[in-house]
Amino acid sequence: MRLTLALLAFSAQTLLAQTPKITGALAIDLSHGQITADLTLTNFPKMDNPAICLNRGMNIKDLQADGKSIDYNLDWGFPGRSLFLSSTMGYSPNLDTILHDTRLTLRYTGAFPTYGPAEIVGSGDGMDVIAFKNNILRASHQTFLCPGLVDRTTNQTITQFTYDIEVNCPECTSIYIGGTAPVNGSKAHLVAEAPNDLMLYAGQYAFSKQGNTWFLNSNLNASNQISIDAALDGMRRFYRSFLTTKNNEPVALAQIFSIGSPTQYEDWAFAAFPCIVANLSSLSRQIDKTSGQLTDVMAYRLYSHELAHQYFGLKVKSDNLYWGFYSESFAEYLCLKAIENQFGAAAYEKLLRERYLTDRALARKFIHLDALEKEIDNTHKYYYYPMVLAGLEKTVGKTSMFRLLNFMVENVQSTNLNYESLKQAALASGISGEKWTEFENTYVHTDNCLKNLMGK
Ligand SMILES: [Zn+2]
Repeated sequence: MRLTLALLAFSAQTLLAQTPKITGALAIDLSHGQITADLTLTNFPKMDNPAICLNRGMNIKDLQADGKSIDYNLDWGFPGRSLFLSSTMGYSPNLDTILHDTRLTLRYTGAFPTYGPAEIVGSGDGMDVIAFKNNILRASHQTFLCPGLVDRTTNQTITQFTYDIEVNCPECTSIYIGGTAPVNGSKAHLVAEAPNDLMLYAGQYAFSKQGNTWFLNSNLNASNQISIDAALDGMRRFYRSFLTTKNNEPVALAQIFSIGSPTQYEDWAFAAFPCIVANLSSLSRQIDKTSGQLTDVMAYRLYSHELAHQYFGLKVKSDNLYWGFYSESFAEYLCLKAIENQFGAAAYEKLLRERYLTDRALARKFIHLDALEKEIDNTHKYYYYPMVLAGLEKTVGKTSMFRLLNFMVENVQSTNLNYESLKQAALASGISGEKWTEFENTYVHTDNCLKNLMGK
């Protein structure tokens, strides 16, 4: 028993030692949309050519290494690299080496939202936008409101940090950063010992907790909140039934708002785990009054998709053209399995026919999964490639498919994943070369993937 505890303590320490840390202060001015930061990065992982990524709306006042101001080179938007970084600026410190114990301090300020020509800044709202509206600030880790790290040689991007941050927001009544519980008041000292993506949701709103779920800025009543907490718990239990990563930290649901054009999104949501930002208000209509269960398949799809990102998108992820496949297509495939589990085979088949295997989709020619040469569109990410994965399941069986998914979650470390990486993982997880070839012939090297999936 003692030995086990000692080993556990050792592995946790090793993990933390490799995780970069952010300490310092963030000042938020809600009425002017202004953010001022004085943050120090420590615990540097080994990187060949590191740059610090920051939202391009930020102006750096000072960059210091171990207390001394230093020079830096600029890298605009990392052209040709991950889309994820396109709205950021890179600052490469002029240092010969950045050692594990180097302390890099950044002082910067900016006012948001920023606007500009669509071809440069992008005119819509999104997960990468720092949004202020109705006295609330919303900013996911993809906004790089807080710094991220990128290795300019390997493209490896780090957005997960442990943190010790003082937030000062005189007009706020509630402050939340992903990885810690929301706090009442205009000041918060937030400390996370485990690495997290820094999702901020701060402003004038109320929050509450039901079971394992926080509700931020939500008008759902307590009984609806209990229903949603139960639904999320069911989804997470289903994923844990074949994905062995034990993670049951509380999830925070925050009400989404948009600063983009009203026609930009029908309904949108995003996850910066453990926070899901979505239209919580519509959930009250999607819960069955009699059973108290979340019976709306599309709402179930949305939340189980976002929860699946805990595994694919956050843990298993790619920094190249395959990012959408490893993040979105896998999350979509997983949420379809959650739907099948919750609503049964008939409801699952019906959803496949009505959403993914439509006549329109059957008539379209798609880019084969092994032939990605440029950024793929949402139809490929969210509709077609999830069906390619369904084809893999149909070829190898659900047990082998789930074993592959778990193998990837447990073992895949690289973020330079491509088509070949999937094949290697499949073979290493126990899928035979013969079955893999059968899958490729039926669902990858063919224009008839969807027809084959339907058995036509
Ligand atoms: Zn997604």
